[in-house]
Amino acid sequence: MFEKILIANRGEIALRVIRACKELGIRTLAVYSEADIDSLHVQLADESICIGSAPSSDSYLRIDRIMSAAEVGDVDAIHPGYGFLAENAHFAEVCESCKIKFIGPSPAAMRAMGDKNSARAAARKAGVPVTPGSDGIVESEAEAIKVAKKIGYPLMIKAVSGGGGRGMRAAHNEASLIQGFHGARVEAEKAFGNAEVYIEKLIINPHHIEFQIVADSYGHTVHLGERDCSIQRRNQKVIEECPSPLLNPALRKRMGNAAIKLAQSVGYTNAGTMEFLVDQKGGYYFIEMNTRIQVEHTITEEVYGCDLVKEQIHIAAGDKLSPHIARPLARSHAIQCRINAEDPARNFQPSAGRINFYYAPGGRGVRIDSHAYTGYTVPPYYDSMIAKLIAVGATRESAIARMRRALGEYLITGIKTTIPFHNAIMRNADFRNGHYDTGFVDRMMNSEAFELRPSNGSLKD
Ligand code: ADP
Ligand code: ADP
Ligand code: MG
Repeated sequence: MFEKILIANRGEIALRVIRACKELGIRTLAVYSEADIDSLHVQLADESICIGSAPSSDSYLRIDRIMSAAEVGDVDAIHPGYGFLAENAHFAEVCESCKIKFIGPSPAAMRAMGDKNSARAAARKAGVPVTPGSDGIVESEAEAIKVAKKIGYPLMIKAVSGGGGRGMRAAHNEASLIQGFHGARVEAEKAFGNAEVYIEKLIINPHHIEFQIVADSYGHTVHLGERDCSIQRRNQKVIEECPSPLLNPALRKRMGNAAIKLAQSVGYTNAGTMEFLVDQKGGYYFIEMNTRIQVEHTITEEVYGCDLVKEQIHIAAGDKLSPHIARPLARSHAIQCRINAEDPARNFQPSAGRINFYYAPGGRGVRIDSHAYTGYTVPPYYDSMIAKLIAVGATRESAIARMRRALGEYLITGIKTTIPFHNAIMRNADFRNGHYDTGFVDRMMNSEAFELRPSNGSLKD
């Protein structure tokens, strides 16, 4: 087993990894930017090294500085978390050449699945259905128009290296196709340094269903069921749930087998997620793979009674799948709310600043993964997510009741958060009945009954 791990990340996921390491008896080295000097990940790690100024391009994305820190700290592995360098195959290669274990898949598997275009090609080759679309990258307006004629509107223009809902444009006619083609390219160039786009059929109000894959280096590949992440705003997940209220056992089996087959076809190891869209007739289409631990891995852990981050570390260290992962058994229902430092009453405008008072809910079936505390200042430079609130119950109903109870206890003052928005969703009749798809949030916000109760949590909510 490793003796010391560097965590190349910040925020709640850095804490998540540090906690797993501590329980495994592994020492930890945190890296941080000047903006994160007061962060919990710095305080809880055994050692820490500052790697630059606030912008992530000068710190968390600097491979050279992270490798220097790894060298100075004499670590034997690096955990990349999610975002930042987590899906950067070059980073994984640099780790390999420095004889430091990258806790994730091989660089080759990352390249095969890393960009959406190659992932689609791999899926086609493995016989897994993908959304109908262009055969590869679409280089020009003229080519976009040709593709549109062939597959028909509505369409989605997508950046091959997109993530976090960015670099994506819907097109319903030629005018919006041309506008979206350029818009997606500009946004993708800015966010990911790669303007390449492709085009696929837009599925109307689908479900986003993803399968958790875990594979060791001895040829064992399993899936740990699905997560329904259809509650989204601007194509970004807001609430995730496991299992999905949509799937029946037959569809779960078919999609799960497809996910395993695709992972095996590229020699995938470690934890990863196969994302699919499911249309209103039960047709499913692979859209992308995330070759890393995911924000919503928590709900799978709660339902299957496992620790995916520890499993990642064990697999990277050359261990076989743990017996309870090799034969997974779902035993409960879990829901996660992503709590963001944003003002839902002002179009979710970011709300960085000092948290004057912080009180987190607890009690049976409640889990919080968060780096927030009283007196912590949320910096404006990074992702706005400050906490993940997870409620677990024997049934979906009890998980929802528990989530409502926990949201009511959550107190965060000094900044605005999305807690009132989550409250509104938990009260919504369609959500409670399990009737939702990716169009849910827009429908809810446009409905007459939509109301944000103006509290950031109060103990009597
Ligand atoms: P998940 O399914 O894990 O929630 P998201 O797409 O929401 O995936 O991304 C998780 C985090 O990683 C977010 O902070 C997001 O901004 C970031 N992220 C995702 N993909 C990329 C990418 N290609 N480049 C940079 N950051 C990314
Ligand atoms: P990201 O890398 O940003 O996570 P994804 O390809 O996973 O991008 O898509 C994110 C979300 O965008 C999906 O969950 C879905 O809601 C929406 N989306 C993506 N592609 C399509 C499509 N072809 N049709 C309809 N919705 C789509
Ligand atoms: Mg995605």
